[in-house]
Amino acid sequence: MFDIIIIGAGPAGLTSALYALRANKRVLILEAKSYGGQIINAEKIENYPGIELISGFDFATNLYNQVKKLGGEIKYETVVRVEEDKTVITNNNKYQAKAVIIATGTGNRKLNIAKERDFIGKGISYCATCDGNFYKNKVVAVNGGGNTALEDAIYLANIASKVYLIHRREEFRGENTYLDEIKTKNNIELILNSIVISLNGKDKLESITIKDKNDKTQDIKVDGLFIAIGQEPKNEIFSNVVKINNYGYIESEDGVHTKTPGIYVAGDTKVKILRQLTTAVGDGSIAATVAIKEMKRRRKINV
Ligand code: NAP
Repeated sequence: MFDIIIIGAGPAGLTSALYALRANKRVLILEAKSYGGQIINAEKIENYPGIELISGFDFATNLYNQVKKLGGEIKYETVVRVEEDKTVITNNNKYQAKAVIIATGTGNRKLNIAKERDFIGKGISYCATCDGNFYKNKVVAVNGGGNTALEDAIYLANIASKVYLIHRREEFRGENTYLDEIKTKNNIELILNSIVISLNGKDKLESITIKDKNDKTQDIKVDGLFIAIGQEPKNEIFSNVVKINNYGYIESEDGVHTKTPGIYVAGDTKVKILRQLTTAVGDGSIAATVAIKEMKRRRKINV
């Protein structure tokens, strides 16, 4: 029996673990892939209060080590179901806890076009900092208009010979500081009001077809396409214990509680105004504190 099972070892989940371990709770963290969540891919974090500059990898690793030092137990298993009684079932085990915190974050949104999955690792990537180096002096495209796409384009411009930045609108969602930097890079070409409609090539990506707002299509020869069109949650497996909105995010009236007593939510996977590192760690600390407080209350009244 664990006091708290935390699902997800990103910044929200690891911060929940930190708070619960410091309160002497027996904690199990379940993670499907690797620790760190999305932030591990961020080349630079410059907006975390008190830390002027740190890489996402260093931040995540520091937090992971902090949790491990406190005796945090992490198992790399995929959760397939959570019961109302706080039983957590994974692909190869079954665990019981007094409280569960869901901090599963989000995954990369897919373009959902033919060959996208087949070409992953063969020209298609969702992570410029992970795969950028494979494209030294090659031609790549980045699709998206948020901060990730802008950062990726800048990062890749220092490695690839040419970067096309393809965005479906005229205006970018990402910050002006990145746009200003993009304007200084003469190997980045902006292609606006356009979407990627097909991925071409036999065994690997050789070119993409884009379509503009006037339905005009164009083939562009590229060695790689970095898809940076945002994130989406995957919460269907929790639908018996939480309420999920139309976009797949977990609803919570106060940002912590789900519809099931003793099951809490933290981080990017819930409905919230700002999905950033600062808010994820805040969520994690609140969820653990509330879970611990309510655990004590439930024990007092023997529930
Ligand atoms: P995002 O801000 O949600 O942007 C996604 C972009 O992809 C948008 O420009 C969107 O276009 C476009 N898009 C969505 N679906 C599309 C589709 N099917 N086809 C083509 N384009 C599509 O996602 P993000 O850039 O991954 O950022 C996620 C969060 O992390 C944001 O809050 C961001 O600020 C934050 N972040 C922060 C930093 C930093 O501070 N250093 C770095 C990276 C990310 P529209 O604009 O037309 O909707």
